[in-house]
Parts: sequence; C-alpha cells; structure tokens
Amino acid sequence: MTKNIFWELEIPPKIHDANLTIQNEGCFIQLTDTHIDDQYRLGSCTNCGGILCCRESNGNCSNENSAGPWGDYTCDMPERTFESALLEASEKHDTKFWLFTGDFCAHDIWEINRDDVMSDIGRTWELLLKYAKGKVYPVIGNHESPVINCFPPPEIQNELSIQWLYEYMSDLSKDILSPDSLITLRRAGNYKEFLDENTVLLVVNSNYCARLNFWLFYDPIDAGSQLSWLIDELLAAELNNHKVHIAMHIPPDNRECIEAWTYNYIRIIERFQQLIVGQYFGHTHFDEIRLIYSLVDEKTPIGVQYITPAQTQFSHTNSAYRKFCYNNGQLSDIFTYYFDLFENNLLPNSRIMWKKEYETVKDYELMDLSPTSWNHFLQQMHDNTTKRQQYLLHYSSISRHENFQNISKEKEAKILNDIPIKKPFENPPNSIETF
Ligand SMILES: [Zn+2]
Ligand SMILES: [Zn+2]
Repeated sequence: MTKNIFWELEIPPKIHDANLTIQNEGCFIQLTDTHIDDQYRLGSCTNCGGILCCRESNGNCSNENSAGPWGDYTCDMPERTFESALLEASEKHDTKFWLFTGDFCAHDIWEINRDDVMSDIGRTWELLLKYAKGKVYPVIGNHESPVINCFPPPEIQNELSIQWLYEYMSDLSKDILSPDSLITLRRAGNYKEFLDENTVLLVVNSNYCARLNFWLFYDPIDAGSQLSWLIDELLAAELNNHKVHIAMHIPPDNRECIEAWTYNYIRIIERFQQLIVGQYFGHTHFDEIRLIYSLVDEKTPIGVQYITPAQTQFSHTNSAYRKFCYNNGQLSDIFTYYFDLFENNLLPNSRIMWKKEYETVKDYELMDLSPTSWNHFLQQMHDNTTKRQQYLLHYSSISRHENFQNISKEKEAKILNDIPIKKPFENPPNSIETF
C-alpha cells in the first residue's frame, strides 16, 4: 500500500550540461477551455437554478436574466463568441503555432455521451483549423470523457476503455502531427512534436495525475506512463541540445493531482529545469500562476506554471486568450487579451471589441519571466496591496460579475496560497473542485 502512495520514478543523472545558448524564437497563441454550448440560446433564462443555463429548455427571460448575444457569466458560451476570438487571434498576431489546452465539451456533464463528446471536439477543432496561423496542437481535457474525469489507463481494453477518444483525437490531428506522435496520442493522449530544429513541444495527458480520476485507485503509479515518457523525452532533448515547451490541461499543483504525481513532476522539473522554455495549462478557468519550489531547498523556485484563462464565461469570468513569445530558449513576454462581456452584450451586431488586458513583464514590473522574478513578485503580492490587487483584477479577466479585488481576506489568502507548489506530501489540498 505504501508503495502505491509514495512511488518514486527513476530519473537518470545528467549526461552533459545543457547548451544554454540555443537559438530559437517565436510567438504562439494559447486558447483553452472553450466548453462551447451548442444549445446556447439568445434570450433564454440565465437563472435556471441548474448547473448550466441559457438553453432553450430554460425558457425565455427578459432584462438582466436574459442570455446575451455573446454569452453570460453563468453559462457556457455560444460558438460565435469563440469564432470571434479565433478571428481576432488570427488577424492580429503573427505566430509560429497555436496551442489548445483542452476542455472542448460543455458543462452538461449529466447528459453527455460519447457522440456528444466527439461532436463537441470535432466542431471546435474544425474552427481551430480554419483560423489557426501555423499548426494547432491539441491537449485532452478532463471534460473529454463522457464520465467526467474518468480516464482508464491504456491497459484497460474492454468496454470501459477510453481508447476511442485518443483514436478520434489522433484521426483529427493526422495532417498535423508526426507518425510517431500519432502512435503515442493513440495510446495514452500524449505526444512530442518538433516546433523547429532546436525546440520540442511535449504534450502530457495530466488526466492521469488527477485526484478525481478514480482509475488512479486501480493504477496509481504513473498511469499511462506519462511521467516516465516525459523523463525519456527530456533526456533525449538534453542529449540533443533541444529546448522544451511542456503543455497539459490540468496543472500539477497541490490541489488537483495526487501527491506522488506532483512530487515526481517537481523532481523532473528540478532535474531538467535548464531545458524548459515554459509550462502551459488551462483547466482552472482563471488567470493564475503556480510556482514550483525545489524539493532540496524549498526557498528556491525552479519552475513556473502558466494557467491561461478560459474562453468560456461559465466561471463568471471574461473570455480570454494569450500570446507567449520566447527567444534563446526562454520566455520573453506574455500578452493576455480579453473582452468585457457586459459591454459587448450591448452591441449584438458589432464585432466584439477584444482588448489587450496586460503585458506580463511590463505591467507586473518583472525583471524577466524566470522563477526567481516570479518569486520576488509573489513576495511583493504578500507585502504590497497594489501588486496583489493587480493579480486579483486579472484573476477573472476583469470580470464585472465577480470582482476578485473585493473578495474576503480568506478567499484572497486561498488564491495566494494556491501559487506555491512545495513538498506535496506535506501540503495536501483542503478541497477539490472540478472545471
Ligand atoms: Zn474547463
Ligand atoms: Zn478542465
């Protein structure tokens, strides 16, 4: 039993020092958590009392309880809102590639079936392909299983298997991904792609880290071999002097993942930190960071997880997307874009007015995007109300519906306490939520 909880993967020692002067540069767009609701109806009731409103079955409402043309803060969004984000991102930004970090399906989790999942993924994917500048790389979210969060490991080959999802995703991506990527994607939802000759993207299926994936009771030790695969690919990158972007849906923090998975992930980041350009996630729907600290010296930050805010407005947030830029093996800046739902719902026939919300380095007054700079920023947030208010304003993408600048001290402390990731076995989560 103990072995099943405190497992530790073997991580080989350094073969040689990573080449720190690798030339690579580019920008990419990250979009995440669309959860498009194809049953969204303009004018339907937003206060239905259920999990997901704004549907024909909720009846028609007027005034403030009426579903708007671009969405509502209590509902999943209409397709036209996502299409507006895609058009905007495509027209305004020169990018090498796009990244979509999962949760294609709406939040009607009580009635969704396999056909609905495939239909939601297929429709969203078609739109992504229509607008993306460069290739678009998919990540599988926890909502892509008809039974939410339920991802059996690949050795389950009976009627409970989730192989059909991985096969469907690889069929959709067959013109984008390499034959090797399609093999691993088809097996367990993970893959590696070269972005240029010096840079690789490693997509990890972090549904195999999630506490809410009950299959981890059956197979708790690196289910789907996601972390063993990550170690192998990072070793290959080190040997070949490649830099690495890591993308997942669920961020491996002290809340979402089983302790041993997070523990081993921290060990991996600590061992390979010089290779990593950035780590990108979705899932929480909020604009957040996580800061990983060394297991050897817990005062030393060793990695940053960037959680891009959602497209859907379901969590009372404004829709947002991001552009990341990197050069010479490091992230150089991050630009976050959003639109004010309240303001734009008054203009049903105009194009959505997307705005730049903030530039991370300039607006947060960071020296750079290194873990050390973010550690300094975290200390400033604890000491300085202005910095903390800035982070909280962005947390909901400046939502008028839920202004995090006015939240209680307890909620504020919880948001700040979510940021550091330290010794997972000593910092178990207080609560689990799903998005
Ligand atoms: Zn989501
Ligand atoms: Zn999610």
